[in-house]
Amino acid sequence: MPDVKVTFLGTGAGNCILRAHTAIVLDCADGTRLLLDAASGNSALRHGAMLGIYAEDFEHVLLSHRHGDHMGGLPHIQGRRTQVAPDAAPLVIHSLEPSIEGVQRLFRATSITHQVDQDGVTTSEGNRVVNWNPVETGQWIQLGTEVRASAFAVNHIGGAVGWRVETGGISVVFSGDTRYSDNLVEASQGADLLIHEALSTEDDQEGTDRRGHSTAAEAGRAAALAGAGQLILTHIDTPFHRDTQPLIDEARREFGGPVSVADDLLQISVSRP
Ligand SMILES: [Zn+2]
Ligand SMILES: [Zn+2]
Repeated sequence: MPDVKVTFLGTGAGNCILRAHTAIVLDCADGTRLLLDAASGNSALRHGAMLGIYAEDFEHVLLSHRHGDHMGGLPHIQGRRTQVAPDAAPLVIHSLEPSIEGVQRLFRATSITHQVDQDGVTTSEGNRVVNWNPVETGQWIQLGTEVRASAFAVNHIGGAVGWRVETGGISVVFSGDTRYSDNLVEASQGADLLIHEALSTEDDQEGTDRRGHSTAAEAGRAAALAGAGQLILTHIDTPFHRDTQPLIDEARREFGGPVSVADDLLQISVSRP
């Protein structure tokens, strides 16, 4: 039975000082490689290179939303990709329109030689290096012979989504940033792996909710109601960097399946049980 390899290039919350920002690589059995969020700065490039995963290997980015800790790395990924593989197919960035608009603003603000328009990004030599793919929630997009993905709305900022990826009978769901979301539960039904953010424990439920995020208990509840095969917590803030046990304990009170916390550079395989 084919596996999906999941690589966490960044697992830190926006203000975390000890982890890189969110970026996750899915390697599917048919050879398709997907990047879920792009971290900020050069984190995805740097951590990827440490594991032999390079910018030129990325073709599809499934973006959750337009916050800097999730999309700030995109111009650097494009820049490095264009530098080493100028004739490669354009990097395709899939997300909802408001998030695509945020990425367009970022490219316009940071790129002095590139043209940014409604279709994508083009170098001064006329090479198209990025294509936008604005998607609707619930729409399935085909990304490989045996890989498809669909975005679902979550509860964070306008245009924020999570992603469900299905390949070879295996389903992986990524929450992006979200408060507890019934919509996520619905979209995650039967997922083999749920990767859910958890900014804090219930001790700071109010502050976490105010910032648009979930507690570990809420992530556990979502995994339980979705009937997920396993739960991996990510988007970890500084107080929980070294001791993630309080997050795990809290999620386990809600969810009876396997619970763990991702660390930067963690690689796991998911297969059908
Ligand atoms: Zn975030
Ligand atoms: Zn966010």
